[in-house]
Amino acid sequence: MSKPAILIAEDESALVTLLRYNLEREGYRVLEAQDGEEALLVAAEETPDLVLLDWMLPQLSGIEVCRRLRARQETRNVPIIMLTARGEESDRVRGLDTGADDYLTKPFAMTELLARLRAVLRRIRPSLAEDVVKAGDLEMDRATHRVRRAGTEVHLGPTEYKLLEHLIQHPGRVFSREQLLDAVWGSDVYVEARTVDVHVGRLRKALNVEGTADPIRTVRSAGYSLDETGAVAAAS
Ligand code: CA
Repeated sequence: MSKPAILIAEDESALVTLLRYNLEREGYRVLEAQDGEEALLVAAEETPDLVLLDWMLPQLSGIEVCRRLRARQETRNVPIIMLTARGEESDRVRGLDTGADDYLTKPFAMTELLARLRAVLRRIRPSLAEDVVKAGDLEMDRATHRVRRAGTEVHLGPTEYKLLEHLIQHPGRVFSREQLLDAVWGSDVYVEARTVDVHVGRLRKALNVEGTADPIRTVRSAGYSLDETGAVAAAS
């Protein structure tokens, strides 16, 4: 399984260095942004699994970045942990109103940050921490590589398996063909974008168990997403 990507949006370079060192040691992939505008750009391009967002950022405040991330479909569900200066209690409340998932007041202990980060990832994306991932009537066991749809075992080719594994970790999030290429085939391999359509077609066909709806949504000129609510509706 690919490493969870953490975006650090922070302008204090000493803190960024410290965070990067500790996050990489824990097995995360680290992305960086030094100001609010850059944070939005990186978040849109790389779709991180979690954002560590400094409250006081140049260009665009952390709180504004948080609002804009929540307003965009691709980043609406990304977990956000805000980093604030000591004693900003009113800010703390405003931050949670804006949609941050958790808060840490600087200075914080690295062990505390790592524990909170794991907790947020577990709560929001159990898929990052556990073998069995569920979305609606879909169930994927990554220890045994078995996939079930509405209780029926389905057989997937290796590429379709990887595609589903990526989509199921982020239900509802729309991925462009390029993002799926990077996630499934790797960014150093040349594959035509149309190849993604072919494999999504095969995945759809394999998941087409009698009495169930198509769980994969095609978003015109944007890409694909796993429609968790569709899968749930089909199961009921
Ligand atoms: Ca700052």
